[in-house]
Amino acid sequence: MDGRALAARIREGVAAEVSELGELGLATVLVGDDPASQLYIRRKHEAAREVGISTRDLHLPEETSEEDVLALVRDLNNDDGVDGVLVQLPLPRQIDEARVIGAVDPVKDVDGFHPVNAGQLYLGRPAHVSATPLGIMALLEEYGVPLEGARTVVIGRSDIVGKPIALLLLHANATVTILHSRSRDLTAHTLEADVVVAAVGQKGLLARNMVKEGAAVVDVGMNRTEEGLFGDVDPDVSERAGLMTPVPGGVGPMTIAMLLRSTVRAARFRRGVLAFP
Ligand code: NAD
Repeated sequence: MDGRALAARIREGVAAEVSELGELGLATVLVGDDPASQLYIRRKHEAAREVGISTRDLHLPEETSEEDVLALVRDLNNDDGVDGVLVQLPLPRQIDEARVIGAVDPVKDVDGFHPVNAGQLYLGRPAHVSATPLGIMALLEEYGVPLEGARTVVIGRSDIVGKPIALLLLHANATVTILHSRSRDLTAHTLEADVVVAAVGQKGLLARNMVKEGAAVVDVGMNRTEEGLFGDVDPDVSERAGLMTPVPGGVGPMTIAMLLRSTVRAARFRRGVLAFP
């Protein structure tokens, strides 16, 4: 499943929507100098600018207090030129992530991490949903992967990938099994699955002999090693899978494209074109 190609098409669509809506703004908050976070932020800014969304890059030093981050988030909430607010995680130790996420205006919360947005997804009335799970659903749809009644296995239960993708699959009428660090005998579950989503962060976690012939396999993992970037899925799984996302070029580009789409959605909510559920 070619995430790069689909993401490019989605970005074209977003560019057209942006020119219809007029000025759009995305603000990102980065605290500290984590190299991976800096790279992600840079990519998000480049992609936003390319589709005509203006960006604001707020970069605070590692030792910034929670109070100061909260004050900045409140300023961005009140800033009319800002449609989307994204706080790059992880935050340094002295800052309570949940408090900061909870301080973002849910309408501007393009990451979908605010409890209101997480709750709306849980209830099946999604407002903003985390971009990576949205990207996965878009890929499965693009490649015509049937989900109704399908056996799907999600490996990983994080708030930003595992749980929201499990809910989206459930809302699409799939049968969903969530595996995690305490699960026993992963293979017994994965071998039965029509769709496997691996979101763990462990190179080679899903091996060829763990996958059913013809299954659709989505690799969310991003494991940086000296030899390069690897997913959670062994590349030779592709010999058995019917469909599979590569790393890089699968879920990664889709995440950025869906974030841009969420920014347009935030702008629609804010302009009253779309009702915030
Ligand atoms: P996380 O560390 O928050 O969660 C990892 C999950 O894996 C946990 O729920 C844990 O229970 C589970 N786990 C750990 N060891 C396991 C094992 N042996 N068997 C089964 N489950 C196990 O990670 P995350 O934020 O969900 O990210 C997961 C991976 O996806 C990371 O590599 C991350 O870099 C990547 N990621 C990629 C994108 C993208 O855009 N491509 C976006 C987000 C995350």
